[in-house]
Amino acid sequence: MFIGAHISIAKGLKAAVKTAEKMGGNTLQFFTRNPRGGKAKKLDLRDIEAAHTLMQEYNFGPLVGHAPYTFNLASTKPSVREFSLNTIKDDLERIKQMGVPYLVLHVGSHGGQGEEKGLSLVAQGLREILSTIPNEVYLLLEGMAGSGSELGYTFEHLQSLIKACEEHPQLGICLDTCHLTGAGYDLQDLAAVKKGFAEKIGLERLKVLHLNDSKFPVASRKDRHEKLGEGFVGLDVIKNIVRDGDMQKIPLILETPNDDQGYAREISLVKEMIS
Ligand code: FE
Ligand code: FE
Ligand code: ZN
Repeated sequence: MFIGAHISIAKGLKAAVKTAEKMGGNTLQFFTRNPRGGKAKKLDLRDIEAAHTLMQEYNFGPLVGHAPYTFNLASTKPSVREFSLNTIKDDLERIKQMGVPYLVLHVGSHGGQGEEKGLSLVAQGLREILSTIPNEVYLLLEGMAGSGSELGYTFEHLQSLIKACEEHPQLGICLDTCHLTGAGYDLQDLAAVKKGFAEKIGLERLKVLHLNDSKFPVASRKDRHEKLGEGFVGLDVIKNIVRDGDMQKIPLILETPNDDQGYAREISLVKEMIS
C-alpha cells in the first residue's frame, strides 16, 4: 500500500521525501504553489533528482501535487477562469518536470450561476487544459462535499465532466473520505459506494484517495476534516477502506489536522489495520 500525508515542499522535494519517510510513509502530497494562489517557485532540478534517488531507495509510490484552492474554472469572473486555466496548465508542466504523475484539482464553485452553467464552464476549461496536457501526467478532479456552491459532490457531476471531455484518458478522479461523507455517501457501506462509482465512472479512473475523518455527519454538506477515529467516519470504516484491494493500489493521503508526529501516529495506525 501507499500511505502518506500532505506536507510542505518549502524546503525542497528531497527534504519532503525525507520527512515523509520519517513519518513511516511511502508517498506524499504537496501544494504546487502557495495555497492562496501565488507565484510558483523556480524548480530546482538537482533537488528533484536527489528526491527521486531517495524515493527509489525507500520504495516510494507515486507522489501527488494539489492545486491551490483559489483556482476556479467555474468562476463568475472571466479573469479568474483565465488565471485558473493558465496556472493549471503551468502546474501540469511543473509536475511533469518533477516526475509527479498526479495533479489534484477541486472541481470549482458556481458562485450562484447554477450547477448546470457551472459544470459547463468547468468542462470548457478542462477541454482546453487537456488539449495540451503533457504525457504521463493526470489531472484528477477531487470529489467535493458540496458546501456553498461547490460543484463535483456527486458521482453524476464527475461523470458528466468526464463525458464532456470525451473520456480523456488523462482525466482521473481523487476521492476524499471526508468529502464523500459530507456529500451523503455513507462509507459504512463501502461496497455500495464503490459500486456506484464503478458504474458511473469506473474504478480505473480513481487514482488517489484522501483519507480523512469528518467533523460532521453523513450528508452534512460540510468539509471539515478530523483526525482518524475522532469524527463521523470512524476507525471501523477506515479499517475497511484501507484493507480494500482497490484502495491498496493507489496513494492514500492524510489531510487530517495534525503535525508531523500526528501523521506518524496515523500512518502506523493504518499499517496496523492491514497487518
Ligand atoms: Fe483537496
Ligand atoms: Fe481532499
Ligand atoms: Zn476537504
